[in-house]
Amino acid sequence: MSQSDRLSETGASVDSDLTRIKTEQVERCVSCVLPRTLKEVSFDVGGRCSVCGERKIPPDASPLQADYEPQLQAFADDLRNRGTGHQYDCLVGLSGGRDSTYLLHQLSRKHGLRCLAAYYRTPFTHSVVDDNVRRTAKILDVPLIDISINQEQHRKVARDACLLWKKKPSPELINLSCVVCKLVHRELYRIARTHDVATIILGGNKYEEAQFLPAYVAGDEEAGAHSFLSQARKSLRVMRRGIAFLVKRPSIIRHLPMGVRASLMYLTPHTSYLQLRYPGVHAVEYFYVRPYDEKDCVRTIREELDWRLPPDYKTDWRADCAFADLKNYMFLKTVGASYMDAFLSNMVRDGTITRDEALRRLADEGTISWERIRHAADVLDLPIEFFDGGERAAVSSARPTT
Ligand SMILES: [Zn+2]
Repeated sequence: MSQSDRLSETGASVDSDLTRIKTEQVERCVSCVLPRTLKEVSFDVGGRCSVCGERKIPPDASPLQADYEPQLQAFADDLRNRGTGHQYDCLVGLSGGRDSTYLLHQLSRKHGLRCLAAYYRTPFTHSVVDDNVRRTAKILDVPLIDISINQEQHRKVARDACLLWKKKPSPELINLSCVVCKLVHRELYRIARTHDVATIILGGNKYEEAQFLPAYVAGDEEAGAHSFLSQARKSLRVMRRGIAFLVKRPSIIRHLPMGVRASLMYLTPHTSYLQLRYPGVHAVEYFYVRPYDEKDCVRTIREELDWRLPPDYKTDWRADCAFADLKNYMFLKTVGASYMDAFLSNMVRDGTITRDEALRRLADEGTISWERIRHAADVLDLPIEFFDGGERAAVSSARPTT
């Protein structure tokens, strides 16, 4: 370990929420890249975060060479069997982002499955992303259903959550801003039932499980976390936190019905409620079955589907939502880390990329796009200054370091 890899005791403190944005001095875990500013994770004297703990980090990034093909073949055969006698083998949730686009390509082209796709254009979906969705469905010759959810309600819940967050930041309020999107899970089950489809497939992957989220439960990265009992435990935990939060912030009571639905009924595509309500429909996340190959994903969608990134977006991860960078910004200010910090750290911990590669990517992709935040602020009918605590000028020069 080089000297620069060691944490200095004089660097960022836990209280300096915006160190990551304001300065170039960001202290990070010596094993992964979680920033020292992250409040919910402790660091030992050697500078290793509690998430890494005793886990052995592979010295080099290990290529995705695991022999998963037989398992994947069995998975596809099972889908085909379940689809026998039905018009479609599976219903695919499509957002226009890179992972779900790649997912539809893999199911349709690699496995030759008969897919039906469903898509919700949120108030925060960029027109370039909307074009991606329609182009992808056309190229792959997959029927596309537009999901209808009240956009005005979506905007209002997100706006109210931001207004409350500004008064007193908390991770619960950041998550509340996005609860309307959870209704997509309900809509997918409804569409599956209407069209007599036995399996819903989504593009989530285990690296997206951020340890600082209120809904996170240790072990969420495992596919077994989608079981009935695991999901029931998760919903109870979220409900408990929600009640505790409501006691402190009675002003969010008007969003209680939506909060209950999002936390208890539709928090994930696997909630116990959905499993009981739609016993004939089964939801799986493809990248828990198959290792998530990020490089192949980006290459495939760009070369074969002409997938495009909206202008001013710094990363193709979570490019499907203009709100994503606003969320990153709010998480940085509130808990001291962003989704990108968690995502890259999870990949390092799993040996998919090296720590050096993660650091390089943080410098390129880890900075906030204020243009993207401006888009989200416009949708919310809030001035960008509402979110800008003076960081906007500093962010262009900020570069995360070790
Ligand atoms: Zn770590």
